[in-house]
Amino acid sequence: LIVDLGDRSYPIYIGEGLLKGASSYLLKHGISKKSPLLIITDAQVASIHLQPFEAELQAAGFRTASAVVPNGESSKSLSMLESLVTKALEAGLDRKSAIVALGGGVVGDLAGFVAASYMRGIKFVQVPTTILAHDSSVGGKVAVNHPNAKNIIGAFHQPELVLYDLQTLQTLPPREVKAGLSEVVKHGLIWDERFVDWCEEHADKLLALDPDSLGYALFKGCSVKAEVVSRDERENGLRATLNLGHTIGHALEAVAGYNELLHGEAISIGMIGSAKLGLRYGASDEVYEVTKRVLAKCGLPVRLPEHFDTDVVMEAMMHDKKFMEGTMVFIVPTAIGKVEIKPDVPVQWVREIVDELK
Ligand code: NAD
Ligand code: ZN
Repeated sequence: LIVDLGDRSYPIYIGEGLLKGASSYLLKHGISKKSPLLIITDAQVASIHLQPFEAELQAAGFRTASAVVPNGESSKSLSMLESLVTKALEAGLDRKSAIVALGGGVVGDLAGFVAASYMRGIKFVQVPTTILAHDSSVGGKVAVNHPNAKNIIGAFHQPELVLYDLQTLQTLPPREVKAGLSEVVKHGLIWDERFVDWCEEHADKLLALDPDSLGYALFKGCSVKAEVVSRDERENGLRATLNLGHTIGHALEAVAGYNELLHGEAISIGMIGSAKLGLRYGASDEVYEVTKRVLAKCGLPVRLPEHFDTDVVMEAMMHDKKFMEGTMVFIVPTAIGKVEIKPDVPVQWVREIVDELK
C-alpha cells in the first residue's frame, strides 16, 4: 500500500514475518548503514520483540542503539523527549540517521516527534505492533502530551516507510486487540459499507488473530485513512470525519481518568452515540443497528457503564477542542459508510443521548 500525499509518498508493508527481513526494506527505502539508527520501543514490546529485530539489523551491518521507555501514555512527555534526545546524541545520530519506532501508537507518536525535532528533523521508520497503530501510521501526526492537554506539542512528520509485521500482533493482549478493532471499524463506518459488512463477518477471525483477516483489516483501515488524509492533509473538512465517535469518546476517557476505558473502547461507545444522533437527523434504524452489531461482535462495549454521571460527561465534552466557538460539532452517520459533519448539534440532544447510552 502506498500512502500518496501528493508532494510526498511512502509505502506501508503489511505481512507475516516482515521483520525477519527488516534490513532489506530499510535499505530499499534509503535508510543508510553509514549512520547509526535509534530504535525506540516500550518495556513490554522490548521484552518480546526488540532482540530479534535489532539482531537482524545488526547482522545486516546497521549500527543500532535502542531506548526502552515505560509502557503507557505517560511516556509521551517532554521530559521523555529530552532523555531520548540525550540517547540520540550519545548514540551519535547525525542528519542521515533514522529513528525507528517499534511499538504501538504511544511509541509511534513519541519516536516520531523525536525524529521530527532532532536536528530539525531526521528520517523516521514506523514498525507498528498494535492494531490501533494502523491509525497512527498514516497521516504523519506525531506528538507528546502536556500535563493539561493530550497531543498538544507535536508536528507533522511522515515516515520513510511503515513495516507492519502481523506476527508481532500475535502477542497483543486480547483487550488491546479489541480496542484496536474499534478504529478499524470506524474507518469502515465513515467510508466503506462493504468493509463494515466484512468486519462483521470476520469479527471472530479477527479476534482470533487470523493473519489473513488481520492483514486485510489493516490494509483496508490504512487505505481509508490514507484516502481521507491525502485529500485533506491538514485538519480541515474531510479529515474531521476521522473523529467519528471521538467527541463523546474523549470525554469518556477523560472522565474515566484514562484507566477504566481504553481509547478504542471509549470511541466504540462514542460511535454508538453518534449513530443515535444519526437517527435524529433521519438516518434509518438499520444504520444504528449495524453499527451496534459490528462493534459488539468485535467484543467492544456498546453501552456506557451506569456510574458515568451525565453532567460530568457533558462538562468534559465542553472542554474538548472540537467545540469551536461555542457550537457543538459532531460527525454523524447518515448511512453505513457515510458520515456528515453537523456543525450545530443542540447540546440538549447530546445530553439525552449520553443518558440513553447507559
Ligand atoms: P500503546 O502504544 O500504549 O500500546 C498498548 C499496550 O500494548 C502497551 O502496554 C504496549 O506495551 C503493549 N503492546 C504493544 N504492542 C504489543 C505487542 N505486539 N505484544 C504485546 N504487547 C504489546 O497504545 P496504542 O493503542 O497502540 O496507541 C495509543 C496511542 O496512539 C495514543 O497515545 C494515541 O494518542 C495515539 N494515536 C495517534 C494517532 C496519530 O495519528 N498519530 C492516531 C491514533 C492514536
Ligand atoms: Zn482514535
